[in-house]
Amino acid sequence: MTFQFPKPESITLPIQGSDNGFSVNHVYCVGRNYKAHIREMGVDVKEPPLFFSKPNWAVVKPGTDIDYPADTKNLNYEVELVIAVGENMSIFGFGVGVDLTRRDLQTKAKNEGKPWFRSKCFAGSAPVSEIIPIGDRTDFSGFNLTLTVNGKVKQMGSCNDMIWNPGEIMCELAGEVPLQAGDLIFTGTPEGVGKLEKGDDVVISIPELVELSFKIC
Ligand code: MN
Repeated sequence: MTFQFPKPESITLPIQGSDNGFSVNHVYCVGRNYKAHIREMGVDVKEPPLFFSKPNWAVVKPGTDIDYPADTKNLNYEVELVIAVGENMSIFGFGVGVDLTRRDLQTKAKNEGKPWFRSKCFAGSAPVSEIIPIGDRTDFSGFNLTLTVNGKVKQMGSCNDMIWNPGEIMCELAGEVPLQAGDLIFTGTPEGVGKLEKGDDVVISIPELVELSFKIC
């Protein structure tokens, strides 16, 4: 079949140690997955995982700076473990990413009972590192997440403090959507979220495994 319009090019992330690229399909996110972050956001209940999604064009490849988005005065960082889904509901690998959020728009939407769409979905809202194949790792509980802004540590958390671990998240999510190879899942952020300004240098990492840096322009 020929297509009426050219097929859109997909965003491709590098895979560590491989010449293959990881072609990004859908991007799913979990909200409120760390107890301390739930408390700082003013909620304190264990509930089923809260899912939302981002368009795949929101993904920003390593080595790319990010324009400060329009319509916000409170751009927030949220460092997160990102799961790269493989075939047949497997975990292919992982990376580290930031769920950039226009917090003022989100707070307004929450207060008005409206969707989070505008607060989470904008160009540049999902920077992600290279993908590390999972290899023989079986779980992520020993992983730490760090985020620094201009060299100062702002977030430091342990994946051990997740309410829903990656395997559980995939099971729950697969009950709602057709999970496919190429999907990315942002697994939630530990406490310490805060504001970014133009000119900030952001470095995120899972220490000793993967790091990503970018500038807000
Ligand atoms: Mn998040």
